[in-house]
This record gives sequence, C-alpha cells and structure tokens, in this order.
Amino acid sequence: MNNSPFENPSQLCETAWREIDLSAVASNYRAIREAISPNTKIFACLKQDAYGCGAGKVASILSAAGVDAFGVVSIAEAIAVRKAAPGKPILMYPGIGPNAADLVRDLDLTISISGEEDLAGWLSTGAPLKIFVKVDLGFWRAGVAPSDLRRLTDLCTSQSTVTVDGLYAHLSEFGDAGSSALAQVARLTPLLQGLKAEGQLPATVMVSSSETLLSHPEFDMDAVDPGALIFGLTRSRTGRRVLSSRPALSAIKARIVALKTCDDSMGVPPNLPGYHPAMRLAVLGIGWGHGVPRNLGSSASVLVRGRRAQIVPPIHLEHLRIDVTNIPEATLGDVAVLLGSSGADRITLPELAEAWNTDETGVGCGLRESLQRIDIASIETEPRKGE
Ligand SMILES: *Cc1c(COP(=O)(O)O)cnc(C)c1O
Repeated sequence: MNNSPFENPSQLCETAWREIDLSAVASNYRAIREAISPNTKIFACLKQDAYGCGAGKVASILSAAGVDAFGVVSIAEAIAVRKAAPGKPILMYPGIGPNAADLVRDLDLTISISGEEDLAGWLSTGAPLKIFVKVDLGFWRAGVAPSDLRRLTDLCTSQSTVTVDGLYAHLSEFGDAGSSALAQVARLTPLLQGLKAEGQLPATVMVSSSETLLSHPEFDMDAVDPGALIFGLTRSRTGRRVLSSRPALSAIKARIVALKTCDDSMGVPPNLPGYHPAMRLAVLGIGWGHGVPRNLGSSASVLVRGRRAQIVPPIHLEHLRIDVTNIPEATLGDVAVLLGSSGADRITLPELAEAWNTDETGVGCGLRESLQRIDIASIETEPRKGE
C-alpha cells in the first residue's frame, strides 16, 4: 500500500510515527502576520518543543518567513532555536534560574523577571542581562502583581547591568468562565500610562497569546506571542478575528505488527469490551509509551485500508489491539491511521482530541519523544494550491 514518504531509510523500520507538515506552520504564521498591523511584532511561542513539532525545524521555517522573535521555556529549546535562528531575539518565559547565566550570555537570551527575589538572584551573577518584566494581570501564575510592578520596574532600570527591553503578561483565562481579558488589561493600562509619563515605558509591551489574539484584536500592542495558533491547534471561538489555520500535526500512524484470527485454543476471550470469539485481532506498534492515552475508551477507532477498526482495551506500553474482523484485506505490515486520511475516510485532529478526552494542544503536546517525527513538507514536490 501507499505508505508515507520517509526522510531516511531507518524510518522505514519504525512501527509508529507522527507526520509534521511544516508548510502549515509557515502558512499559519503568514495568516497571523496578515491579520495584525505590520507594526506589531510576532514572538513565536515554541514551548514544549514547539508544541511537539520540533523547535529547531520550526524555528528555521519561521525565521525564513520573517518572524521577529521567539519565546521558549527550556534551555534545550533555546539551544535548538538559537542554532536555527542566529540573531533573532529569544525570550525565556519564567522557569530558568541564575545557574543558567553562562548559557544566557552565550546564547544571547532575554530573561523574564517576575519579582524582586528573582531579580536579586540574577543580579548576583554580575552578568549583563536583557530582561522582559512579567506581570500577572489575573492569571494567578508567574509574574509580578500589578501593585508591585512599578517598584520592580524601577529597581530593574536602576541597575547598570540590566536592560529592560519589554513588559509582558499572559492573559490566559480559566476554563470557559467568559472573557476576563478586558478586566486584566484594565489593570495594566494605568501602569503603562505612569511608565510612559516618566519615559520608562519598555520598547515592547505584549499581552496576546492565541486566545487573546483571536478574541481581542484591540490588544495586539507592540507584539503578540501566540503558540497554539501557529501550530493550528486552536481556532477562533468568538469570531472576532477569523484567520485560516491548519494543524501542523497532520498524521499519527502505526503498523500492524501482529495479526491473527483468535480461537478457542487461546481460552475464552478476556471479559472486556470489544473481545469476541473468533475475532480477527491486529496489534499496532504504538502504545501509551508513545503518548496514546492509557485509559482510552473502547469507542476509539483507527483507519485500516480506509475503514474503521475499533480499538480494543487495554492500551499497552508499546502496543494496542484493534478488531479487524470486518476488514479481511488487512495485512501484516499495513499502516493504520490514528490521525489523518486513509482511503476516503479521515480522522481529524478535533475528532482524535475528543476520543482522547483532551483538546488539540493536548494531543500535540502529549505525544512522546519516542514517537518519531516525519517532516512531510520537505518531500512535497508540488506547492499546494493557495499558498
Ligand atoms: C504558553 C504561552 C504563550 C502561548 O500560548 P498559546 O495559548 O499557545 O498561544 C504565550 N505566552 C506565555 C507566557 C505562555 O506561557
């Protein structure tokens, strides 16, 4: 059958892999770029190894597409991004501490400062620092409280070794409680006015990640830092800003590594949903060790030769079972599709997210390193229509 294209021969031997469409990353980026003012910079948030797509490759694509800067959490991500995008600013979101000072200098990273204790630790290294002050406008996570922002900013600007390049917040929300973004920005506005009046306003003020970018175009400010949207993992719920995006995670596939018709010589079928005597059972070379949820219900299915096959619980570390009784043409070595197209049928990312009891970001970021990544954009010879 027509299997996926492979980057190198060793991948021909893999029993499971995910396919990443880097052209989707580029086109989602361009859609954001076209939707916002040319004066607003884009910091591409590449945390969680670029939402499971691979920070290095994604940084190369975005750098070539003209992205202004990057935001990451881990040093591993910062190293990958720096290698792929020399010269682009990299903002470290809160996480790393002063013991990373040498790497911060060598990789030319901008750090986040969320409080006085945080600042004191970094100052003790004696190293010159480029910083963004992070403020917590109501997400109750990292960032200085608005009441302490002015004091912290003054403390930062008074240090000869510190350059305050930016001020930012993550305006995220709790569940579907409705938008509190307006109230959150209202806490920031007077503080910005105060800083501006005294000529202390940092060059880059930024509050919009994906959700705010789509729901509150009025909060674009000097820069935005979307993550999920760049990877096509989220869509507009309010319709205030509509832009077309598609998932960079285009497929999850696994081979049939064992196949047989069961019979009485194996004893009675396990007393679990989906088993029946004389069933034709296939085993896929993918399991919870690759990121498939361990407690996947028996309603989930995969595609084999364009037809749905039920997943039969439980899920194992390296394996999962499917019932192919009704797909007699299934053969050892066939590629089963957990996400993506097979024949005329297709399992979409929202559909998979529902079956996995998570959202699209949860699928993309829940896959483990052991699930090989295959870059399908690099082997596409024909440019896609409309790009
Ligand atoms: C995760 C994160 C983002 C990106 O969030 P998305 O919802 O994926 O767009 C931006 N800024 C900060 C500080 C973050 O932690």
